[in-house]
Amino acid sequence: MKERPSFPARLDSTLAKNRPSAVGGLGHAAPALTVVAKTAAGVAGAGKSKGAAIPVPLGVGMDSQAVRQRMVQKLAGQGVTDPLVLQAMGRIERHRFVDSALVNQAYEDTSLPIGLGQTISKPGVVSRMIELLRNGATGRMGRVLEIGTGCGYQAAVLSCVAEQVYSVERLRGLHDKARENLRHLRLANLHLLFGDGMVGYAQGGPYAGIISAAGGDVLPQAWIDQLAVGGRLVAPTVHAGGQALMVVDKTPQGLRQSILEAVHFVPLKSGVA
Ligand code: SAH
Repeated sequence: MKERPSFPARLDSTLAKNRPSAVGGLGHAAPALTVVAKTAAGVAGAGKSKGAAIPVPLGVGMDSQAVRQRMVQKLAGQGVTDPLVLQAMGRIERHRFVDSALVNQAYEDTSLPIGLGQTISKPGVVSRMIELLRNGATGRMGRVLEIGTGCGYQAAVLSCVAEQVYSVERLRGLHDKARENLRHLRLANLHLLFGDGMVGYAQGGPYAGIISAAGGDVLPQAWIDQLAVGGRLVAPTVHAGGQALMVVDKTPQGLRQSILEAVHFVPLKSGVA
């Protein structure tokens, strides 16, 4: 019989007193994943003209690490400079968060389906948004709230660059999937919550950073309220008929907002399902 870990905490008012438990310490290391994927060069797009890529096992020791390093080099080439972000992107094994049929695309800069109509963001977008969120911090930043745990990948990356991470997901199926995906990492500073992230998670705040992986028409007031003074929010929002990345800084003088590049995120929805 499979043992069920003791969390999540629920966000609804009846159970709001339960603090979420950390992902860490849940026991059992995940079994080593051995699947056939393209070679590092093939995945990175190099050497395409030199014939078919030779299949190598991805996910065993150095093989997936080498592929990840190629991805990190590409991210650096695209302008990501934050060393902690690059380190985290090199450490977290994205292939463990996607369906086995998609593993050979895990280190390409592409979003991938994770079930229930949702997607894991591109590595380029994950690293860009987290770099923005950190706003030049040198060490780990303080507490972070993530809205939209999805498969748990970005939550894992965040846990490498922040002191505490609270990640909320409104779909029970994905919340459970993330918990499974994250178990092997034993991240004691990552707290998974099942609930409607539009109300934030006041118990974990105030936050140095709030990051949303889903885009809404407006920013929920709860996010602004739960942001610390000096904190930063990064979220996709509706802008000029499309979606754009919005950065909001909460300064002692008030809110400062900037709209950056166009992005394509799944919609922010209210309630749980
Ligand atoms: N960061 C995720 C990306 C998941 S896609 C990853 O690395 O996989 C965005 C997620 O936001 C979806 O799983 C969707 O269900 C979730 N979402 C949308 N609205 C939400 C809300 N109000 N509260 C919590 N999660 C929400």
